[in-house]
This record gives sequence, structure tokens and C-alpha cells, in this order.
Amino acid sequence: MRIVLLGAPGSGKGTQAQRLQLKYSVPQVSSGDLLRDAVARGTELGVKAKAVMDAGQLVSDDIVLGLIRDRLSRPDAMTGFILDGFPRNIKQADSLNALLAELDQPLDAVLLLDVRRETLIQRLAGRRICPKCGSVYNVHTLPAGTTTCANDGTELYQRADDKEEVIGKRLEVYEQQTRPLVEHYSKLGLLRAIAGEGELDDVFERMEAAALAKPVSPAKVKVKRTSAPTAPPTAGAGRSSKAKQSVAKSKSKNAVQAKTARKTNTSSGKSAAKKKAALKSKVANRSKRPTKLKVGVRSKKGTPKSKRSVKARKATKSAKRKAPRAKK
Ligand code: AMP
Repeated sequence: MRIVLLGAPGSGKGTQAQRLQLKYSVPQVSSGDLLRDAVARGTELGVKAKAVMDAGQLVSDDIVLGLIRDRLSRPDAMTGFILDGFPRNIKQADSLNALLAELDQPLDAVLLLDVRRETLIQRLAGRRICPKCGSVYNVHTLPAGTTTCANDGTELYQRADDKEEVIGKRLEVYEQQTRPLVEHYSKLGLLRAIAGEGELDDVFERMEAAALAKPVSPAKVKVKRTSAPTAPPTAGAGRSSKAKQSVAKSKSKNAVQAKTARKTNTSSGKSAAKKKAALKSKVANRSKRPTKLKVGVRSKKGTPKSKRSVKARKATKSAKRKAPRAKK
């Protein structure tokens, strides 16, 4: 088993790595633990790393790669390993690839633990650790008022980078630097996404199934975002090629629609102008017609009487009376 565990801080990588280590007898190699060990021992490297870690930032690639190289070169890692927290950016992934090629230990799979942002925050802010045996607790599940380890009675502590003000920074660093690894390993056909919420045993079962299963084609891997992007996404950014195609399609469809609309508007504009001109000439012709009948002149045949003025009708009547009757 040669696997990488990928996931945001608080997604449960460490917990699940410990279980896999027990069951499959392969070492958990945690870059965070290696760094914390260096800090605790007060080595030069540890002193350098401490401030960066406490601020929720990433320690320099060279420092972390040096620690990982040493650890993976040890005999117990020759039969397999569970990498937890490394790599954390594309540069580290490339370095790991080169190192594993050197050691002739290619990766079997990359397991992504998918957890919602609100769950991550709740887990990180509530995490308490035993400094003696390393057991991890959460204040939300501990009996009220419990402050000591159930195994050895040691007072539990909260990691400096689990303080609320640092959690936001760590999640931001994950989104910007680590999340691109999802697409990176998906393209390599190594990624397997696992729902990381629910009972620990259920998540573990999913992890095992994913670790031992055959690779899934990258096109079939669907990964949900665990937090809102920091910048507004541009059209097509971070989408699958299929989604990009559909965006392009709808864009060109919109363009065609806009073009048609423009055309319609212009032609309707033209016909409106024509209509206006026709109406104008109609009005002009109408104004040329006589509006009043001249007195003494008979109206045109068929003109309804009602339309003839009273004056005109009277004039016609008297003209008739005056005129001599024609002999029969
Ligand atoms: P973790 O225990 O994995 O959450 O790591 C704790 C802290 O150690 C991180 O917030 C980083 O400051 C540092 N760290 C762990 N792994 C790496 C890594 N691969 N690259 C850089 N910094 C790391």
C-alpha cells in the first residue's frame, strides 16, 4: 500500500492514517508530525518552522522535502507508506514523483477526504490532544468538563494553529495551494474521492475500499468544493473539459441569439420606418380631400346623407324646387 491522503485540515487524514497503519502494517508518514517533532526537539529546522506553522502558513518546500526523503528512505517504508499532509502543492507533488521514481516505489492511489467547510471548522476548533500518548479528542464529543486524557490522565492541550484566528488562514492556504492537487492527481488517474463525514468506522470502510479498488477514470471523479472560492470564479475555471465545452456552447448560443436579436431589431427598425412613411403619406393624401361639400353641388353618388351638411341638403332641395319640370 503506497498511498497519499489528501484533504483540508480537519478532514480526518491523521485519524484514518493511524487506522490504516494498524491494519496494514505500513507506516503513517505525516509531514505535520515530522515538523512538530523537529519543533519539540528544538532543532535549527524546528526553530525556523515554528513561527510559520503557528501562523497557519506552509513551511518551505525544501525543509519538508528533506524530512520526507529521510523518512521514506527508512527500511519500514520499503513495503509501503501512507503519506499524510504531503504533498501540499504542485511543486511538492513533482518532487515526490521524482523521489518515488528514484526509490522505485510508485504511488498506488491518492485518497481525497471530502468534508464540508463548517464541519472542518468545528473539528479543528474543538480538537484537543494528549501530549503524552497523542490521543485526539474533540470538546464537542467529550463529556462536559473533561480536560484530561482517558488513557493516562494527562492534561489535554489545543494546538496553536487550531486557534480560531489561524483556522481561516489554514483553510485559505489549502484552497489556494493544495486543492489544485485534486485535478493534478485526477489527470494522472490516481485520485479517489471519499465522503469524509459520518461515523469513523464508516469513513474507514470507504477508505479501505477506495485504497484497494481499481483506479477510476478521471472523467468519472466528481469532487464537491468544501469552501467558497476566495475570488469570483471565471467562466470555465476549475471545470471539467465537458463543463468547459458546455460553457463554450452556451456562450456561442448566446452570441447567435444576440446576433439574431440585433438583426430582428434592425429589420423591425426598417419596417417601422417604412410604416411611419406610409402613414405620413396617407395622412397627407387625406388632408388633400375636400372636407366640406360646396353649396349647390350634389354630393357624390352613394355619399350617405348623414354626412352631408344640413346647409348643403337645404340648398339642393330649393334648387330642385326652382328648376322647371322636364316635360315627359
Ligand atoms: P498538519 O499537521 O498536516 O495540519 O500540518 C501542520 C502544519 O505543518 C501546517 O499548517 C504547515 O505549517 C506545516 N506543514 C505540514 N505539512 C506540510 C507540507 N507538506 N508543506 C509545508 N508545510 C507543511
